Amino acid sequence: MKIRLDQVDEPFDWQETLKLTTSEVDRTEVVDLGEIECRGRISTASEGLLLRASLRYEQTLRCMRCLETVALPVSNELDLLIQIGKSEAADEERALEEQELGMICLEHPQLDTRPILVEQVQLGVPMKPLCREDCAGLCSRCGADLNQGPCGCLEVTDSRWGALAALQQGRSD
Ligand SMILES: [Zn+2]
Ligand SMILES: [Zn+2]
Repeated sequence: MKIRLDQVDEPFDWQETLKLTTSEVDRTEVVDLGEIECRGRISTASEGLLLRASLRYEQTLRCMRCLETVALPVSNELDLLIQIGKSEAADEERALEEQELGMICLEHPQLDTRPILVEQVQLGVPMKPLCREDCAGLCSRCGADLNQGPCGCLEVTDSRWGALAALQQGRSD
C-alpha cells in the first residue's frame, strides 16, 4: 500500500492484506507463505512519524535437518521511525545504519509499505528452521528420516566401534 503521508490525518490507521511470493521474500528456507494480515498506525513522534504495525501470517519452512516442511503461524510487531526529506540518506552505508536503528528516511512524503513488510517477513524466518526442537534429521549414510525410527546403519557403526575396541585391546596386551 502506498500512503501519502502529507495527505493523511494523524494518527492514521490502516489495514492491508498482502500476498507475497517466496521469490520476493528470497529465503530458501521458505517453501510457502500465506496471506499477510497487517494492521498499522502512523502517528506523530518527536523526530518524525512513528509507524507501528502488527503482522500475522503462516509460513511454511523446510526443516534444515530432515528436509520435511512445517507450517508455522507467525505474529510479529514492527516499530519504525519515519523521517522525510533527508536526502543524504541515499548513501548506502547510512541506509543500513538506519535499518538497524529501526528508521527510514524518505525523500518524498510517500510511504510504500510493501518493502517494509517484505523485510519484516524476512526477519521472521529463523536462522535454522526445525520441524521440532528434537528433530533427529536424516542418516548421513543412507539418507533415511531418523524421525521414523532407526535406519539400520547403527549396527554397521557399532561393529566398527567393536573393531576399534579390539584393536586397542590388542595394543595394550
Ligand atoms: Zn525435521
Ligand atoms: Zn542409515
